[in-house]
Amino acid sequence: MQIKTANADTINEAAALLKAGGLVVLPTETVYGLGANALDGQAVARIFEAKGRPQFNPLIVHVPDIEAAAALVELNEDARRVAGKFWPGPLTLILPRREDCPVSELCSAGLPTLAVRVPAHPVARAVLQAAEVPIAAPSANRSGHISPTTPKHAAQSLGEAVDMILAAGVCDVGLESTVLDLSGPRPAVLRPGAVSAEEIAALLDCDVSYETEAKDNAPKSPGQLLRHYAPGIPVRLNAVDLHPGEALLAFGSDKFMGIKGGGAAKDLPDSARCNLSETADLHEAAANLFRMLHDLDHPDHKAIAVMPVPEQGLGRAINDRLKRAAAGAGETI
Ligand code: AMP
Ligand code: MG
Repeated sequence: MQIKTANADTINEAAALLKAGGLVVLPTETVYGLGANALDGQAVARIFEAKGRPQFNPLIVHVPDIEAAAALVELNEDARRVAGKFWPGPLTLILPRREDCPVSELCSAGLPTLAVRVPAHPVARAVLQAAEVPIAAPSANRSGHISPTTPKHAAQSLGEAVDMILAAGVCDVGLESTVLDLSGPRPAVLRPGAVSAEEIAALLDCDVSYETEAKDNAPKSPGQLLRHYAPGIPVRLNAVDLHPGEALLAFGSDKFMGIKGGGAAKDLPDSARCNLSETADLHEAAANLFRMLHDLDHPDHKAIAVMPVPEQGLGRAINDRLKRAAAGAGETI
């Protein structure tokens, strides 16, 4: 990993690394972000690995302008108004994903919504222009550490886990972006930041609530307010064989997986059999997780039987999500 001062050459280098699936720490006006190509699920999986996050929380996807956002999410009238006033800037909007949204489902952690933002920092903007892909970027610190506002902080926290750190001094705002949820019936601020609920309420001429308090037990982070994705049919974990009528979510080879009462997994139709990674690669498995759960979540199946995933590295975050999926639909986390 190298810290490089941002200039035309290093910005192009960063963009090339991002396009190729690399991880680049880049300056934004809020805090330094840990960026990856949002279209590349395996690159996004590397973000969670580098941060050592034991959970897949949804990530903010950065785009160069409103029109680029409109290609990813359904921009309603309120969204166009707030974006028109506060973008580029420290405001993140949560909106329904478009049907044809090309961003990895890992960025949404399986939810039907996506968080998008147009950053104001000239270096972040230049990287977005050069990379020509949306960039997923949470704060560039290991899980549990504070958000970095200097390249040195990012380097101390993430070390060799990233391919490059693009340095441009201290961040102006030094605080994470305001997260505004415009996907529900009423606008709600999920995370306070530089743009206040009052400013948004004045612009939209309506009430904007703060939903940063616990809805159930005390949450430890804003991400815990999320409703998480859970399939509509039961999920059975650590399956070593299949029960009749179940669909299979495999990990590694399912060659020897049998169906109780007769038959083998390999004879199931494609619609009832997915493999997170035939080679037992955890990056590939993370990138496939939410899409495959969605694909197998069909009332024709009695349940989704999931083969064991090792509890190491990204496997911990994968198992965390699978456990939540198995615990039942519509639960808050
Ligand atoms: P970070 O990317 O680490 O700066 O944090 C992103 C924040 O945005 C998290 O606290 C999430 O709770 C929130 N967020 C991102 N995407 C969504 C979404 N689709 N729905 C609700 N909250 C989201
Ligand atoms: Mg953070």
